[in-house]
Amino acid sequence: MSRRDLHDVAVVGGGAVGAACALALARLGLDVCLVEAVRPPAWSPAEPDLRVYALAPDNVALLDGLDAWQSVRSARAQPYRRMRVWDAAGGDPLGFDADALARPELGWIVEHGLLVDMLWQSLLRSGVRLVCPARVEGLEHGEGAVALRLDDGRRVAARIAIAADGAASPLRRLAGIAAEARDYAQQGIVGYVQTERPHEATAWQRFLPTGPLALLPWVDGRCSIVWTLPADEAARVLALDDDGFARGITTAFDARLGGIRPTTRRVAFPLQRQLSATQHLGRVLVIGDAAHAVHPLAGQGVNLGLRDVSALRESILEAQHRRLSWDASHRLARWARTRRSENTVAAYAFDGINRLFSNDALAATLLRGHLLGIVGRAPPLVDLFWRRAAGG
Ligand SMILES: Cc1cc2nc3c(=O)[nH]c(=O)nc-3n(C[C@H](O)[C@H](O)[C@H](O)COP(=O)(O)OP(=O)(O)OC[C@H]3O[C@@H](n4cnc5c(N)ncnc54)[C@H](O)[C@@H]3O)c2cc1C
Repeated sequence: MSRRDLHDVAVVGGGAVGAACALALARLGLDVCLVEAVRPPAWSPAEPDLRVYALAPDNVALLDGLDAWQSVRSARAQPYRRMRVWDAAGGDPLGFDADALARPELGWIVEHGLLVDMLWQSLLRSGVRLVCPARVEGLEHGEGAVALRLDDGRRVAARIAIAADGAASPLRRLAGIAAEARDYAQQGIVGYVQTERPHEATAWQRFLPTGPLALLPWVDGRCSIVWTLPADEAARVLALDDDGFARGITTAFDARLGGIRPTTRRVAFPLQRQLSATQHLGRVLVIGDAAHAVHPLAGQGVNLGLRDVSALRESILEAQHRRLSWDASHRLARWARTRRSENTVAAYAFDGINRLFSNDALAATLLRGHLLGIVGRAPPLVDLFWRRAAGG
């Protein structure tokens, strides 16, 4: 392969994590190519995307630095200023308040489609070479580089390839990196609802033995829901008409905000925990859901992926400042160890919380009744929990 055709980095997958990664590395002066199978549709304000993210402040700062946040914020984003978490079996609730933590907000609720669209708008201005639509089907290892074989017969060569191609990650498989998966046998139902009482810019979550129900505040007074249920129960709830769904969700939420009515269709997605054996092998890195899919109960799915990007950016920036090789194997391995360790702790923590709370065994019920109260009554623990969730 000639030097002219050799990119510094080929990112595979232009979802929120891959697009942010391509932008972040291009801003460091690297020659970046992004390969994406499906061009993301333009976001339309008419119908809100059913998939929303609760973005933590550190990731809002990352997106701001990538010239994507201000356009997301001015299009449509809802700050949340409080969190309330409680258990259906009783005990004290756990709460976080922006005022008490001396912050303007705890984070922002944004639509997946809007975020990806604005990242792509930024990509078009960035100098990143976009290869789309094209699907990666093969991987070859060369001297100091890798080559990706695409489904249209083209090849893309780069010093490193980054798999940001989602939980099924074809590139991770092509690189021979194993992934350990656990099917939760649960589904997450998403949609928008109108509550009788105002949402108070609060992210609410009630734990039930069947799984947590979260109501996230939305810009027009409605809430976006993530309702975790065992797979068979989720199928039953999805089949309900609007009146039946309204009764079910109002009861599940203990009428905390009065009656709840659906205002959109509902869809469900399967929940799993998946961790790749490593985030670095040879000249392939793995980030986002390709490296770690987690339970949505803490709203950290996309946040962890964006933190992979921030950490990689910092590692390369440090090498550039010290005039060292940014793609040295030991440097990439150090990045991968740090990220995998944090992602593993997060994945198992959410796993443990899901097991403890989605459970009506007596011991689990007694333990969790005390747990939220203990954390809630100890300001240093509240502070610690918050800093972990915010990426501090
Ligand atoms: C239906 C659904 C609802 C969800 N709801 C929530 C939620 O409410 N809150 C939350 O925190 N998380 C939610 N998640 C999880 C969240 O979407 C993920 O954590 C997040 O999308 C991960 O981003 P990513 O960029 O790593 O991967 P993805 O968003 O999966 O993006 C991967 C990209 O790679 C591309 N690609 C795949 N294969 C190839 C290939 N061979 N060649 C080229 N490109 C390829 C795909 O087209 C895609 O654009 C949901 C997931 C799903 C599926």
